[in-house]
Amino acid sequence: MVRLNEAIDLVLAAVRRLGAERVAVCEALGRAAAGDIVSAADVPSFDNSAMDGFAVRAADLATAQRDGLPVVAEIPAGTVATAPLEPGHAARIMTGAPMPVGADTVVQVERVEEHDGRVLVHQAPRAGANVRRAGEDVRRGDVVVPRGAPLGPAEIGMLVSVGLEEVDVARRPRVAILATGSELVPAGQPLGPGQIHNSNSFTAWGQVLAAGGEPVMLGIAPDDRAETRRLIARALEEDVVITSGGVSVGDFDFVKQVEEELGVERRFWGVATKPGKPVAFGVHDGRLVFGLPGNPVSAMVSFELYVRPALLAMQGRRDLWRPWLTAAAIEPVAATKDRVEVRRCLLLRDDDGVWRFTTTGPQGSAILRSMVLADGLVFVPAGHEGGRPGDPYLVIPLQGSRPERPPLPA
Ligand code: AMP
Ligand code: MG
Repeated sequence: MVRLNEAIDLVLAAVRRLGAERVAVCEALGRAAAGDIVSAADVPSFDNSAMDGFAVRAADLATAQRDGLPVVAEIPAGTVATAPLEPGHAARIMTGAPMPVGADTVVQVERVEEHDGRVLVHQAPRAGANVRRAGEDVRRGDVVVPRGAPLGPAEIGMLVSVGLEEVDVARRPRVAILATGSELVPAGQPLGPGQIHNSNSFTAWGQVLAAGGEPVMLGIAPDDRAETRRLIARALEEDVVITSGGVSVGDFDFVKQVEEELGVERRFWGVATKPGKPVAFGVHDGRLVFGLPGNPVSAMVSFELYVRPALLAMQGRRDLWRPWLTAAAIEPVAATKDRVEVRRCLLLRDDDGVWRFTTTGPQGSAILRSMVLADGLVFVPAGHEGGRPGDPYLVIPLQGSRPERPPLPA
């Protein structure tokens, strides 16, 4: 059995970065940039008005307030003034339209009065006001998205804004998902005596997608050695294999044996956590092979701890970790003697800004509702003394990604 942080290190040490592929920007959401994305242009590429109003020369603002200026041109967005703006003149201009040559200031339409082809300024802005300068958002040569960064809606917009329609992203890790157990029934099918639905493949499917992977659903292997072997051999064609169940010490727990027969090199089996003790991890020809526990909560927590950072690292991501915070227990928290307890919790924030947590009802490893209700995971160090209300614990919200690794207990 290994300790929690050791298990994470062993997994990350086995990660190989995947290659890149070029995709259309609309296919790139959630993908990781394969290299630094550099802008070949200034954005915006021209000085333009930030307001609907009148383009003037700042030197004419005093006259514009006293006598008004003749309006000599109209510049809608998307058109360019045909002539420079002469001294003593104003041009009607719309938001986003290019500044006419000679003008340096825009007076908002709300601050003027117009009659007989003249514009009288009530309230003069400062010189240079309401003009967006060429390159004020992005300068040519700027890195707009660094290598390894995930592409969210803002990044996608930025790529298009600098003129791109395609982008090089890391290939998505293909993740084979295989459930094991003769008691399992596919989603939606009626249950016979002693049967349960295969929920693990679907929690894993969601977790894989959320980490940028591509799930490959291989269904259910019954507790039969030959069939388990056939399906694991198929799973080993993918970049990552996730099995659930069958890695404990029961008579029908074939997964480990079969994997070893198929040449999987074992890196660890058993981690000192509760839940999530019977986790097996190995490597096969560069592929990562995770044997997650069968209990639904144990499988999800183990995915969160080991598989998620691995999938992100394969894509070159640097933000492998969840954010973390310290929260005060609302009720006493019991500890396990020699294992880190990972409890599911709801986070609450006091008026004074202090985070508090309460566990999400019964915490059995088969109680999936404890995950449904959870904002995050609480880590209770092994053999932790005390456990009084108000005691501080490390909590990992199940949202977001950060580059700093949380200081998980050993
Ligand atoms: P095992 O490690 O195979 O003994 O499984 C431990 C527990 O998890 C048993 O109660 C199984 O029925 C349950 N279990 C195993 N696989 C799944 C699955 N795919 N979906 C839901 N529960 C499962
Ligand atoms: Mg089983």
